[in-house]
Amino acid sequence: MNKQNTARPVLTDPFGRRIEYIRLSVTDRCDLRCFYCMPEGYRDFEVPEHWLSFAEIERVVGAFAALGTQRLRITGGEPLVRKDLPQLINRLNGLEGIADLSLSTNATRLGKYAQPLYDAGISRINVSLDTLKPERFKQITGGKLDKVMTGLMAAKQAGFSPIKINMVAMQGVNDDEIEDMVEFCIEHGFTLRFIETMPMGDTGRRASENYLDLKQVKQRLADRYELIPGTMPGGGPARYVQVAGTDLRIGFITPISQHFCETCNRVRLSVDGTLYMCLGQDHKFELRSLLRAGISDEELQDAIQHAITLKPERHEFTDKPQQTVRFMSMTGG
Ligand code: SAM
Ligand code: SF4
Repeated sequence: MNKQNTARPVLTDPFGRRIEYIRLSVTDRCDLRCFYCMPEGYRDFEVPEHWLSFAEIERVVGAFAALGTQRLRITGGEPLVRKDLPQLINRLNGLEGIADLSLSTNATRLGKYAQPLYDAGISRINVSLDTLKPERFKQITGGKLDKVMTGLMAAKQAGFSPIKINMVAMQGVNDDEIEDMVEFCIEHGFTLRFIETMPMGDTGRRASENYLDLKQVKQRLADRYELIPGTMPGGGPARYVQVAGTDLRIGFITPISQHFCETCNRVRLSVDGTLYMCLGQDHKFELRSLLRAGISDEELQDAIQHAITLKPERHEFTDKPQQTVRFMSMTGG
């Protein structure tokens, strides 16, 4: 069913960008510890009393939808560690104006939840996967690769389409697996996206020592495969090519080597009800206290419109890599 409405209002930021996409972090917790994202042993999580309830999330997303937002991605932390996630999806799927509901996950729990999530209304998923080697997977994430593989196959079985594999490409960590990942995605009908490491928090900054410019990856793939221009549905910044003679699309997400801030169309809502305006900047607006003080729907929409005026022009990952103290898991990537 297409719930898109043609005569909708639009949220526009001070730089003329239409904001039509929310990334909703339903938890800052995670069952993995990817070394570029969350520190080992990290436990300084948001307390449950500060988590937005499902009803509060529904209100905020409903207000965004009334202001023209059509796309919503559920993320985290690891979103599947939030209890009863399919129930939340079901509620959000019923909101008028939301036309596209997607999920980013590490897939460890998809073996159990792929079908309920699909049935609740998620159709597109992104799965983080940086390596196909179990030992290396353990070193990068602290977890077990076989659980992710089980989850991925359950997602395929449930009917998610597309399934996009997100690989953070890192020099000396997994850059020897780029072609293997291409073959894996061709075999399973997945889409592949490479991501450049971002200096978010101490973890991201340390991992940036392994930074790999994706131009090199693209050149390497062009030497081996015939690459033709490609496109993919979705609201994101990836630039795609297709491997000729296959269905495989490969996306390059290049926040560092070729930033895409001028086309940024999104804001992020964290589990504690903070709207973050930019991944790499501190501009934010707190909604939780307003929601709990009994704000009306109209006032909530006014608050969101004000928040959007705070959106900065661009991140400064290259000029000021020390600036962002938040880990990626706090805002959902
Ligand atoms: N847990 C889910 C997952 O891993 O897909 C969703 C949240 S995770 C924070 C979202 C994305 O951020 C993942 O694709 C992950 O690889 C990416 N990410 C985390 N830290 C990063 C960093 N420092 N640089 C680049 N990407 C990062
Ligand atoms: Fe967890 Fe995703 Fe961060 Fe890995 S990237 S630690 S799976 S939130």
